[in-house]
Amino acid sequence: MKYYSTNQQAPIATLQEAVIRGLAPDRGLYMPKQILPLPKTFFGHLEEMTFQEMSYQVALRFFGEDVEHNALKQMVFDTLSFDTPLVSVSEDVYSLELYHGPTLAFKDVGARFMARLLQYFIQKEKGQEVNVLVATSGDTGSAVANGFLGVEGIHVYVLYPKGKVSEIQESQFTTLGQNITAIEVDGVFDDCQSLVKAAFMDDELNKTLRLTSANSINVARFLPQAFYYFNAYAQLKRQGKDINHIVVSVPSGNFGNITAGLIAKQMGLPIHHFIAANNKNDIFFQYLQTGVYQPMPSIQTIANAMDVGDPSNFARILDLFGNSYQDIKAHIGGATYTDEQIALGMQNCYRENKYIMDPHGTCGYLALQDFLKEGETGIFLETAHPAKFKEKVDEILSIDIPIPVRLKNFMQGKKQRVSMEHDFNDFKGFLLRRQ
Ligand SMILES: *Cc1c(COP(=O)(O)O)cnc(C)c1O
Repeated sequence: MKYYSTNQQAPIATLQEAVIRGLAPDRGLYMPKQILPLPKTFFGHLEEMTFQEMSYQVALRFFGEDVEHNALKQMVFDTLSFDTPLVSVSEDVYSLELYHGPTLAFKDVGARFMARLLQYFIQKEKGQEVNVLVATSGDTGSAVANGFLGVEGIHVYVLYPKGKVSEIQESQFTTLGQNITAIEVDGVFDDCQSLVKAAFMDDELNKTLRLTSANSINVARFLPQAFYYFNAYAQLKRQGKDINHIVVSVPSGNFGNITAGLIAKQMGLPIHHFIAANNKNDIFFQYLQTGVYQPMPSIQTIANAMDVGDPSNFARILDLFGNSYQDIKAHIGGATYTDEQIALGMQNCYRENKYIMDPHGTCGYLALQDFLKEGETGIFLETAHPAKFKEKVDEILSIDIPIPVRLKNFMQGKKQRVSMEHDFNDFKGFLLRRQ
């Protein structure tokens, strides 16, 4: 499969080039040249397959031309060492729990797959070590660091703002050691992001080191997120539920997750409608209302992984629908919630259904409450375990939510990190000295 850039100015790339580069040279996002549909027989038998088996069939459509099939199968099976159960919350409303991976967030799926694919390409070319730079406000850093932990030929640098990530989150990327280096930056998230961006633009650094990114811009992180949409459908079928009018509500920040769902639909997965659920960072919602895309500085909310003022995957959505506002509006609905509404939604769901949601999943749930019609089956993606946001969830629900063992183990490790000013020359010098 070849990949083109959404900006149409960069040369067509192979999968290997797209994965190692991350962003295309014209600053566009890579898209597969074709989205290959799956046959009717596949959907007819989906409920008889395991999550790993069906995902391998999906992965073959994306990566089958570029990766030896045995290796690809191994990657998919290793990545999906955990399930994504579909849990009934109330009549016609289901939660697709994407938080059963090592760091208890959906980003585990994409990060674990990307680590394995990148390693495959590095081993093939017996090339120089690759350095993954990732700026994080919390969840991305932990999923990427854990996904890449112990992978030979790759070193990961996680940059995070000092004092601005939770204890739990910090412990998930500072206690790992091995090929993971955590860098605590004296600044805010945007400062971390700008250090990483400056590194990608720096000629000297790029001549000496191979650098890549691991956010949802990278096709190797973005495409595997399609897997669990198929798993949701299979579970509904297995439970004998109505599969003809499925609405999927996706808590969205950078819009990588929902875009992967739209691709699953283009491959033939019968999803009737999507809803992008936003917090107060509602640039996409406003776009649906007006047809004008107006990026904004991000606003801090209790669903902080969705505090994005200029969603990077919007370029992919435009591309999927040929830049047609009418088409986008026809396929994707929008919703936006304040922190107060999120808290109230979490309380109502807990009271009525005894189901505990995290603040991000709550946005997805609320959008189904508001927009699901008679005769439709609603699925919202529960993108993180509520215990990852323990302080907030405890306070809102007046409970003491138990911390899963996996999370506790991280918290017992010894934190190791390098402290740094927000200064590019310091960062550059540090990277160069480590070679
Ligand atoms: C990253 C994240 C999101 C947003 O996902 P996008 O793919 O960026 O839209 C939602 N919820 C949680 C918990 C996240 O970590």
